[in-house]
Amino acid sequence: MKGLYIHIPFCVRKCSYCDFYSLPNRQSSIAHYVRAVLREAGSFPLSQRGIKGDLQPLKNFSLQTLYLGGGTPSLLGPQNLQTLISGLMLVPSPSRGEGQDEGVPQNGEGLKGVGLDLAESTLEVNPESATPEFLQTAKNLGFNRLSFGVQSLSDAELQSVGRIHTAAQAVAAIKLAQKTGFQNISADLIIGLPAQTWHSLHSSLEALTGLGLPHLSVYCLSLENGTQLALNPPNDLPSDDTQAELYEKTRAFLINAGFVHYEISNYARPGFECLHNLNYWRGGEYLGLGPAAASHLDGKRFKNNNDLDAYLQNPTGQVEYVETLSPKEKAAEEAMLRLRLLEEGLNTDELTAKFSPANTSDIILRLEKMKREGLWLQTGVTYRLEPAHILTSNSIFSRVISG
Ligand code: SF4
Repeated sequence: MKGLYIHIPFCVRKCSYCDFYSLPNRQSSIAHYVRAVLREAGSFPLSQRGIKGDLQPLKNFSLQTLYLGGGTPSLLGPQNLQTLISGLMLVPSPSRGEGQDEGVPQNGEGLKGVGLDLAESTLEVNPESATPEFLQTAKNLGFNRLSFGVQSLSDAELQSVGRIHTAAQAVAAIKLAQKTGFQNISADLIIGLPAQTWHSLHSSLEALTGLGLPHLSVYCLSLENGTQLALNPPNDLPSDDTQAELYEKTRAFLINAGFVHYEISNYARPGFECLHNLNYWRGGEYLGLGPAAASHLDGKRFKNNNDLDAYLQNPTGQVEYVETLSPKEKAAEEAMLRLRLLEEGLNTDELTAKFSPANTSDIILRLEKMKREGLWLQTGVTYRLEPAHILTSNSIFSRVISG
């Protein structure tokens, strides 16, 4: 399975907790940015970018999933979204020179019969920029999944971290998306916002599940270096213990409401798991376009620089590093990713068949050893994280790969 991720690094304002690569006040660069992304997409095979290896041009890339994330992809507006998607479907052949934009259709020209036809095409949307025209354009282009940056349905909590939408806008945007014909809709929620209580979090959960959303991504707020929140932490941030309690209550609420806790931060009604991210957690291949975007292709990992201006000037020359993992390193990485899948878990026979016993025996020994601490639910050769240890999962996973 292969996925394509496109990073849209624009935001109206920077939220106080955010350490994603996104820039405020740069919307005037969006049209230029879309052309740059299409140039990067047209720059494959990899050898043309100084990366050893062979990859089909993007149009022969047999994609199964597309994910437009950010930043704020809904800031693209209908016209730029249409230009981007129609351009990707008609990506310029690698023989065209750099800087030539003749492969970019104008005003939707070229859209006929080439809309997205993938297993899953997700578009991240922020409530304040979810206009009827934008959602309708996304629908017409073939997007079949939306992910809303809701975060909370308490206005006080939203304002406390600098979000620019209100709870009412978020609910109205989701209803509009449903009216436009989207059923596969996810919302992001944050646990641990300033002054958050179970009462307010419960209200957000009830409202979102009441809207019939089949997927929720729930993240615990963390103070990331360099963010406003870390520089000036408010004194009403819930304590670690309170955050853990909110997390447990959220998990119980969603499971009781019929959701499956299928990944550390993700809940879905059966059949609505995010395919793009499942591919990532299963160690699949993906290509990332745009500044800060990471890729895993052809046995290599590579990532673009976090530099929008450099990218606009030279979108095909931004690879920050290329890493070729040894089979042993790949096996360890895949084990760690698969253990994030709380229902599916890690099947050690499959891991060994893929990477050979020489590269997986240490991992299996460590899993066995850690079993005595009650960290796993084991069924045959499949290991799943015991739910009581989800909040300390990062340190557990590190032990699996490095002893
Ligand atoms: S909207 Fe999202 S990407 Fe933009 S600053 Fe806020 S959290 Fe970060």
